[in-house]
Amino acid sequence: MHMQDHQWQAIIDCDATADGQFYYGVLTTGIFCRPSCKSRTPKRENVRIFATSDDAITHGLRACKRCRPEETVPQNELAQAVLQLLESRYAAPLTLQTLADHLHISPYHLQRTFKKATGQTPAEALTQIRISAARQLLTSTDLPLTTIALQVGYQNLSHFSYVFHKETGTTPSDYRRRNGNDEKSASAAGDHSADADRLY
Ligand SMILES: [Zn+2]
Repeated sequence: MHMQDHQWQAIIDCDATADGQFYYGVLTTGIFCRPSCKSRTPKRENVRIFATSDDAITHGLRACKRCRPEETVPQNELAQAVLQLLESRYAAPLTLQTLADHLHISPYHLQRTFKKATGQTPAEALTQIRISAARQLLTSTDLPLTTIALQVGYQNLSHFSYVFHKETGTTPSDYRRRNGNDEKSASAAGDHSADADRLY
């Protein structure tokens, strides 16, 4: 496999989010590693890229003792990185492509790895984060619904209301009425159930 610049960058950065996407072998040592390996960065001209650890072994390379590239890749690193992105950027319109570009991986790889690690698609996780944030705003502020919709990343109120209802079984205004600031005990119960619904 021809090495791409972002792959070389991942090797230099010991980027764990690249783990599982490729492996790199160093011809001078005969050893192959995961991108995140903290071993000394080799010279670029000595590096070869492999899609799988089996490929590297077939080409006569030995697995690094430090990063153990022959063992199953912990997918959680990438899933964590995706979740962090979702948490920090949910207020803006987000597409799978945007996330994938940010992590320098393909949308397909992102979707597949994330689902494998969390049991959810990135879109499902994003919806949960947004609805959870909306619940907070509905019960702890007097902001108009339209403002809340925009603040949690929805383009308009009707789309927000639709998703909110689908996720919670209630409309945003009903949710606010039942869990509003004037009913402290109901609010606490509402917050609690919101936490319980969260998977992370
Ligand atoms: Zn290594």
